[in-house]
Amino acid sequence: MIRFEQVAKRYAGGHEALADLSFQVPDGEMAFVTGHSGAGKSTLLKLIGLIERPSHGTIRVDERDLGKVRASGVPKWRRQLGMVFQDHRLLMDRSVFDNVELPLLIGGFAPAERARRVRAALEKLGLARYERQLPAALSTGEQQRVGIARAIVARPRILIADEPTGNLDPQLALEIMGLFGEVQQQGTTVLVASHDLPLIKRMRRRVIVLDHGRLVADLAAEEVR
Ligand code: ADP
Repeated sequence: MIRFEQVAKRYAGGHEALADLSFQVPDGEMAFVTGHSGAGKSTLLKLIGLIERPSHGTIRVDERDLGKVRASGVPKWRRQLGMVFQDHRLLMDRSVFDNVELPLLIGGFAPAERARRVRAALEKLGLARYERQLPAALSTGEQQRVGIARAIVARPRILIADEPTGNLDPQLALEIMGLFGEVQQQGTTVLVASHDLPLIKRMRRRVIVLDHGRLVADLAAEEVR
C-alpha cells in the first residue's frame, strides 16, 4: 500500500508543485496519474522514488514512513522499485544487455540467473536482437523499451513510470501500456504518469487527476470511459 497523507512539495524558488495531496494505492493495483503539463505528476513519482522529498506531509509504503529513510538508505529503498523515465536514462557506453542487467547486478543475482532474466525481459520487449548493441544504435522507441526492460527485470514490488509512452507511436504505446498491465497482473503495484487521455481510457484502470498540484478527481477503473 502506497499512502500519501497531506503531502505538499515546494521547490526551491517557491514554486508549489503539490499541495495537500492525500490518496492511497493498494498493493497490486495499477493507477494512472494525469493532468496538464506542470500539474505535478513527475513530482509525485519522484517523491515515491525518493528523488525528491516532500515539504510537508507523510508518504508511507506499507507502514514504512519514507521520510525516515535516510540518504544512506535510499539505494536499498530503490531496489524495491522499478523506475521508467521519459528520457530513458540509459548508460550510453554500455550494451543493451548490460543496461538491463544493472538492477540484477545491484540485487546480487548469480550470473546465470542474470542472463536468463535479461534475455527473458529483452524477448518480452522485442529487443532480443539488440542485446550486444549500444543504445545509440536503437530508435527512440527501442531505447524507451530498453528502459522498461531494465525497470521490470528484477520484478520490483512497485513500478513507477513517468510518461513512458511519450515518444512512441500509438500502436507501440498501447503495447507498452499492455505490458505494464501484465506486470501488474504478476503482483507489482504500478503507477504511470501520462497525459495521453485516449490511451488511459483504453486501459480502464484507476485515474488520479492533478491540477496545479492538487488532486481534483480520483476515478475508479469502472468510472473511466
Ligand atoms: P508534470 O509532471 O505534471 O508536468 P512536474 O511535477 O514536472 O509536473 O512539475 C510541477 C511543477 O513544479 C511545475 O510548475 C514545474 O515547473 C515545477 N518544478 C518541477 N521540478 C522542479 C524543480 N526541480 N525546481 C523547481 N520547480 C520545479
